[in-house]
Amino acid sequence: MRLILKPERDKSVRQRHPWVFTGAVGRRSGPLTPGGVVDVYSSDGGWLARGTVSTHSQIIARLWTWQQDEPIDAELIERRLQRAIAARADLINDPNTTAYRLVFSESDGLPGVIVDRYGDWLAVQLLTQGAAAMSSLIVETLARLLDVRGIYERSDVEIRAREGLQSAEGVLWGAAPPSELEILENGYRFTLDLAGGQKTGWYLDQRRNRRLVSAYARGAEMLGVFTYTGGFEVAAAAQGAASLLAVDSSSVALQTLRANLRRNQLDTPLTVQEGDAFEVLRQLRADGRQFDLIVLDPPKFAHSQRQIDRATRGYKDINLQALHLLRPGGVLATFSCSGLISADLFQKVIFGAALDAERDAQIIETLTQDSDHPVLLTFPESAYLKGLVCRVW
Ligand code: SAH
Repeated sequence: MRLILKPERDKSVRQRHPWVFTGAVGRRSGPLTPGGVVDVYSSDGGWLARGTVSTHSQIIARLWTWQQDEPIDAELIERRLQRAIAARADLINDPNTTAYRLVFSESDGLPGVIVDRYGDWLAVQLLTQGAAAMSSLIVETLARLLDVRGIYERSDVEIRAREGLQSAEGVLWGAAPPSELEILENGYRFTLDLAGGQKTGWYLDQRRNRRLVSAYARGAEMLGVFTYTGGFEVAAAAQGAASLLAVDSSSVALQTLRANLRRNQLDTPLTVQEGDAFEVLRQLRADGRQFDLIVLDPPKFAHSQRQIDRATRGYKDINLQALHLLRPGGVLATFSCSGLISADLFQKVIFGAALDAERDAQIIETLTQDSDHPVLLTFPESAYLKGLVCRVW
């Protein structure tokens, strides 16, 4: 299969951006098979790159190689997996951490492929037709390269529908994971449900940020909002937080948070509040509550360009409420995992919130996704998580 680009539409491919949009394609030769290998040419017939086809998506091809003599085959997959593993040697050898992302899609040269390691299990997400087509090669190679007990698929995400793929879940290789899988992160114990939990059961991208933010926890009355199972809260409690109020809309997540504190022998006074964060924050303010440390780690608010304005208002709202709830000198750690909201825009939103709250806020840390979620320079879209730690007066 071949895609021949329109004149003047080859720049991004030459610059090794891994996506080809339907609108950039002038001609095709041969019928397109879902997930099949495709060669991409410029309008003057020069070979540019090789990738896999997504017949249902606006992104008609994801590019895997810019080397003409490199086929997309078992060996390429093995080389890319080896490279991804080598890049994570420090994490793999860290006795205090057993959970990390092994493969981060385009950033690791494997478009649509996500592999997370949780102790003796791997969670795999295959998000594109090309990735799905390589499923058995990927699984077989992972099983050979890594000493794990099982590989479990969690391709039950919305983006699969955009690719015309069914949701897929279940054991791909080896044994099924236990429903309570224990992992270590920065020396703390957590359990997760690989098969049933959110995402692949844990938010790996915040590992480093949990450690950095916990440094501000000593003696603090802490409010955690959007806590999930307590990644930030357990680290903060271990670093000497005086008390915790955890807010999430999921009661199961809050129960697990409580269990995770216990699992680490932490008896920090804990209150959990199940509810909508937007409402709970208002209620806390109405009640005149004050905190020394607040962590806001909401889910993705912007899933498409159209949602950016609404998402921005959402971020502003929760941050405004949180700023009101901080004692002078308190610390706000605030995050956005919406790739469509740039770091710049996010900072402007917090600026607007601080103005409205009439509080002085100083940025003391600028945070991003952890190193197992690398940002490929040719693919700035891979930078999605941003956080600011602010001292608030
Ligand atoms: N801080 C967590 C990850 C948070 S993920 C960690 O470090 O692991 C986002 C969380 O927000 C999820 O647990 C989800 O249940 C919760 N959530 C989503 N919408 C919410 C809402 N409107 N109010 C409160 N919690 C919400």
